[in-house]
Amino acid sequence: MPQPKNAMEIFRHLDKSNCRECREKTCLAFAGAVFTGQRKLTECPQLDRETIERLSGESENQTAVEPERGEYLQDLKNEIANIDLAAAAQRIGARYSDGKLMLKVLGKDFSVDEKGNLSSDIHINAWVVIPLLNYVLYAQGLPVSGNWVSLRELKEGTERYPLFKRRCEDPMKRVADTYTGLFDDMVHVLSGKQVAKQFKSDISVILYPLPKVPVMVCYWSPEEGLESSLNIFFDETTDKNLDINSVFTLGVGLTQMFQKIALRHGFPEDV
Ligand code: SF4
Repeated sequence: MPQPKNAMEIFRHLDKSNCRECREKTCLAFAGAVFTGQRKLTECPQLDRETIERLSGESENQTAVEPERGEYLQDLKNEIANIDLAAAAQRIGARYSDGKLMLKVLGKDFSVDEKGNLSSDIHINAWVVIPLLNYVLYAQGLPVSGNWVSLRELKEGTERYPLFKRRCEDPMKRVADTYTGLFDDMVHVLSGKQVAKQFKSDISVILYPLPKVPVMVCYWSPEEGLESSLNIFFDETTDKNLDINSVFTLGVGLTQMFQKIALRHGFPEDV
């Protein structure tokens, strides 16, 4: 994306919560300060790296983050090269054939070769790669229990929950409030399953970003003075099959995907 032509172009991409974590009074003030060069986009903790890079028109953040991520990714690939992929496939609910481990990500076929390289017929989002490799390497393979818990109840989830709420549950709720077709699209586009009356919510959808790591999104519509709400639940075995950082990354990635799906259907970008 070319450099923003004015502060409003930056503002459209901000969280608009006016949370003040950037030490500006409002998101609009922050947008103005960024546009005039007094602030950097990286000072807003609510912005994801992809948006920062797009708005910057350069990889200002990439210098700091990419090498670290690249090294970590290479470490994971090296570890994959040292494991028995056929045995891993059996452990994690995947298949093995011709030197490749194959599994479903949101209903789509993905494969991992003996060097840890991923392939798929569809575009592979960056947020899928590290969780998927961690899953192949470290999932204990516990079967899904059907007992749903909040991120707070997973190992190390309590401290991650406030940011998870800000980066996943809150923005997803804003999409659901405005774009009523969201849950149907989640079912159709992401091979989800709509379930009735889970946790007494109005709408519940179960998605499978990884075979033994289901995610349930529950939405309660607004009624009689009560605000709407949205919560994301995980199977209670999740922390045995995936580390908390990868769970967090999947949550943020799913949220960005919902926002993109909604945008394609005319959801206003600045909600
Ligand atoms: S930190 Fe980000 S979301 Fe919070 S007020 Fe600043 S610009 Fe807005």
